[in-house]
Order: sequence, then structure tokens, then C-alpha cells
Amino acid sequence: MKDLKTASICVHTGAIKDKQFGGVNSPIYTSSAYNYREGKVIYPRYYNTPNQQIISEKIAALEHGEAGLVLSSGMAAIHATMMAVLKSGDHIIFQADLYGGTYHFAVNELDNANIAYTMVDAADVDNFAKAIRPNTKAIYLETPSNPLLKITDIEAVASIAKANNLVTIIDNTFASPINQTPMDFGIDIVIHSGTKYLGGHSDICFGAVVASNDWIAKIHQKSIIYGGSLNSSVCALIERSMKTLAIRVREQTKNAQALAEFLDRLPMVDKVYYPGLSSHEGHELAKKLMHGFGAMLSFELRINYLHDLDVFLDNLRIIKPAVSLGGIETTLTAPTSTSHAKMPKATREKQGIFDNLFRVSVGIEDIEDLKADILYAIQKVETHALIA
Ligand SMILES: *Cc1c(COP(=O)(O)O)cnc(C)c1O
Repeated sequence: MKDLKTASICVHTGAIKDKQFGGVNSPIYTSSAYNYREGKVIYPRYYNTPNQQIISEKIAALEHGEAGLVLSSGMAAIHATMMAVLKSGDHIIFQADLYGGTYHFAVNELDNANIAYTMVDAADVDNFAKAIRPNTKAIYLETPSNPLLKITDIEAVASIAKANNLVTIIDNTFASPINQTPMDFGIDIVIHSGTKYLGGHSDICFGAVVASNDWIAKIHQKSIIYGGSLNSSVCALIERSMKTLAIRVREQTKNAQALAEFLDRLPMVDKVYYPGLSSHEGHELAKKLMHGFGAMLSFELRINYLHDLDVFLDNLRIIKPAVSLGGIETTLTAPTSTSHAKMPKATREKQGIFDNLFRVSVGIEDIEDLKADILYAIQKVETHALIA
């Protein structure tokens, strides 16, 4: 079962044979207590129960890594990884566009741990090289970024890191392993919020890390101390979800491309951010780095409609205004009232995040229904703006 291709890994890799009854699915082993005289000590917080192992192996195979570890949230994965890589006195370089939780972790927790950090604009990879200090240990990336889908040159950053003996970590949540496998470009550690695409149905919270056997052993040691493990029933749901990962994400990506092109043609839309559009500043890079352009896009409703944004949201009938992303249903958020609400207006506008910006996580619905849904809501805004 070594050389399976992506969609087959999703279905088969890691699965345990049901020797007792011949069922096609992996059995669910619910025990938290195992006989210690049988050899290795199995325990949920040791991350070594059979159902935990299945999904760790599957995600490792999908990310082209040696080993994987599955934890109870993306933040648990990020925390354990940071603490395994960094120690008191070290320095880490982050790309400035970061998931909010990661940003808060850096700002609130690293100081306490006596770990220094620098956040750099990833548009110019030289910024990473310039930020290196004698005590720099690691570089942390997140691409495509939230919410403007900026693309960081993973390959260039990995080579800077290699030349300087630094560890590279990437949050690959937005792309999913279907659309991007950063280890192919020399990245050392890949992190996921499985809550998003890996789970894919907006009903499970979990996280994952993939790396070399050596790195996973270190992160594993930290995770045993911190906790943040999953029970078998959830692992079984994750295994089931991941069987359809490739087919889901490929369909979502196809829909996203079509929706981005549709929005791009609408006069009521000012700007569309999607790496699959040739107008996107990261398009050429994305072609080099990604297997597909992803299923996240953002757009700006015409600035004239700034006072009618609620009318737009109220009149969406299929697309749900909701935080999080990656589910099979299409959801939409206004970053300035969700992920970036706490950021000062001037700061976020400097980053290009305005009140009329909407971020869409494209699902698997029929594309014609998605287009019609947005068009209907925008037309309501237009009528409302005329009357008001
Ligand atoms: C959601 C998210 C996280 C955090 O994951 P949780 O599962 O909520 O802990 C980290 N990174 C990115 C890019 C995310 O979207």
C-alpha cells in the first residue's frame, strides 16, 4: 500500500483490517485502558491508540511526510510544535499574515517563554533573510494567507532556511494537502487545522502535524505533556471524513475558480482575490507551488454599497454567513467583523482589509446555485441603495 496516489490514500491508507468479521471499515477500538503486559503501553494521551494511528498515518502520507500526529485542535498542534522547536532564548520569524490564534499565541505566549519573534512581510522573501539573528531557530509560514490569499514563495523561503540551518514550519490549512504539499519544496513541519478541510463537514475540531520521524518524536513528547488528544469515536469520524477529502476539495476548488471568474465579471464587485485568476498577484507563484488554486476566495462589494452590507448578508439564501471554513457548504465572512475585528481599522486597511471585503469558503453545491445566490443578494443591495 506504499505508492498509492492521493485519492486512494484518502480512502485506504492507515486503515485497519477487520479480521474478526471482515467488515470493510476499520474497527473502532474504544478502550482507554490496555493491557500493559502485551508490550507497548497504549493510552489515548500517548496518541497511540489504533484509531489515532490510522488518521496520523493517512495525513502523513497525504503530506508526503514520514510521520504524523493528530491532536484535538489546530492550536494544540501549533502550540506543541512551537514548544518542541523553540526554547528559552531562541528567536523565530513569522510571516506577518497569520491566523488570529497563531498571532495571539506569538504575542501573548512567546514573551512569557522568553522566545523572541519578528513578523515580516512575506511578499519579499529577502525579508526573511534580513530578519535572521544569531539565535534564530525557525521560520513560520502560512500560504495562501487569510483573507487576501497572498502566496508566499515556499521554495525560496525553504532554501534560505536550509542555508542558515533553520527549521521551517508551515500552516497548510487553507490549501489542504490536496492543493499543496509543502514538503516537496523542503518544508520541515506541516501543520493543519483539521477542523477545516480535513474534517470538511463543519462538525469536528482537530489538528495535525506532519514531519520527519525525529521531529514528530519531539512534538509527540510535548503533546504527551500538554494533553490535547482525541478519543476513538472522533478519530473514526475523521477517518470517514478524510476518505472523501480529495473528491471534496477538488470539487470545491473547481467551484471556487468558476465563482471567482463570475464575481470578477460583476460590475457590483470591485475586486476579487483568488490565486486562480491571472490578475491575482500570486498567480504565477501559485502555479509553481500548488496542485490546485484552493477553494477560498475574497471579494470586495462595490464601495458605493458600504452602508448596505447587512442587506447583502440578509439576502443570501444558500450561502451562510459563518466563521470557520473548509466545509462542504459554502460560507462567507466579513473579516472586519470577525477574524480582524480586534485589529485597529487603520492597521487592517493598510493590509488591504476593508469593511466591504467578504471571504468565501466555497463548498460543493451546484455552481449555478451559488452564482444565483450572490447575484440575488447583490441585486437586493442595488435596489435598496436606490430607494435609500
Ligand atoms: C482555524 C485555523 C487554525 C486553528 O485551528 P483550530 O482547529 O481552530 O484550533 C489555525 N490556522 C488556520 C489557518 C486556521 O484557519
